[in-house]
Amino acid sequence: MESPQSDILYRRACRTLATGVSSAMRRNVTKTPLYFERGEGPYFYDVDGRRLLDYTLGWGPLIAGNNHPRITSAVSKQLTNAYAFGAQHRGEITLAEEMVDLLPGVDQVIFSNTGTEAVQAALRIARAATGRDRIVKFEGHYHGWMNNVLVSYRPKGPSDRTAEKTCGGQPNSEFADTIVLPWDDLDAIEEAFRSFPDEIACVICEPILANSGSCMPRDGYLQGVVDLCRRYGALSIFDEVITGFRVALGGAREYFDVEPDLSVYGKALAGGFSLAAVGGNRGAFDVLRDGRTIHAGTYNGNPVNIAAALTTIDILREPGQFEAMHRHGNAIRSCVEEVGRQHNEDLITTGVGTVFNVHFDLANPPLNYRDMSKANGEKYGRFRETLLERNVYTLPDSRWYVGVAHTDKELSLVTDAITEAMNVASR
Ligand code: PMP
Repeated sequence: MESPQSDILYRRACRTLATGVSSAMRRNVTKTPLYFERGEGPYFYDVDGRRLLDYTLGWGPLIAGNNHPRITSAVSKQLTNAYAFGAQHRGEITLAEEMVDLLPGVDQVIFSNTGTEAVQAALRIARAATGRDRIVKFEGHYHGWMNNVLVSYRPKGPSDRTAEKTCGGQPNSEFADTIVLPWDDLDAIEEAFRSFPDEIACVICEPILANSGSCMPRDGYLQGVVDLCRRYGALSIFDEVITGFRVALGGAREYFDVEPDLSVYGKALAGGFSLAAVGGNRGAFDVLRDGRTIHAGTYNGNPVNIAAALTTIDILREPGQFEAMHRHGNAIRSCVEEVGRQHNEDLITTGVGTVFNVHFDLANPPLNYRDMSKANGEKYGRFRETLLERNVYTLPDSRWYVGVAHTDKELSLVTDAITEAMNVASR
């Protein structure tokens, strides 16, 4: 695909913007990074004049689509009043109340700016509450780019229990207290609790492993994780940065009917604005109230981002929104699977309608990182490249995001593109 104007901009960017892009994750999305000018509903417009049907949704946040008139208007209205206080305002109370109302088992929340930050707040709360230092995370799970959790995200070694750094500049000492375990294995968690008695502060996980193939948990598994934590005096933390306000209004807590001690929210919470939160039962926040630990941030509870979140939630609350989004996503999944079958592909999709992955050359649904990594990424790459040539924009790791702006019109566009792309991928 030719993108002459993006090529020019990228060359210019590389002169002064280190790496040319603003997040490591954006380096390999397309051969030349694409530059965008405008978004509207489910479409992005790039500088070469192309309209792309967007199933990336800004890596998740744009659940209401681009430039939703109600979000734009709420934010504009807020801007006429103030764009930062560094102090208290009504909006933060209203949003806290709405979250408590919507998220099962959540009595209180704190606000932060990014998922990365909110994860760190949750870990600190768990450590302060338990007086323990070690944390458990799982292979392939992503919890932001800090050294203590950016381990074994894409491990290459043979062991599924060795904490492996992900990039340079990660001193061993900074993840010395991070225990890595395989996902989908309750025995492994129990064994860790037995090996490190009274040392594990918390277990953090993505309830749907969206960052590694949207692996779904087996029935009862998430409850098993929460129960083991309770039994051994550790806090359970669901990282709902992707699942929150996406798999259901109440996130994974509602979808799976499980209540961990803490949940972390970001992305879809504010519909494209930079807001994150930690929610939990009242007791979980004792350590903040009594001053045993702190959580801070100049921009915490920023009124513009809060206004965006309040409106996003209002939009998501409208009757039928989640049903429609799931229906749309599931229709895409059925189409990919059906067209794949016609080409004799061993192809499956995993996840839910609003966030799912497509796996070539996998016969069974993956349950963890090791399963997922057996999928044929090259074939998916060809499939995706052809989709892009047909103006359908998706993420490189085979994850698709669906939002309220995707209608039947887009469904018909995308299913045509899928049929053509499968012809190319299956060659
Ligand atoms: N947790 C999960 C599950 C995520 O998917 C992400 C971002 N992809 C993060 C945490 C980090 O969030 P942020 O990029 O907002 O720092």
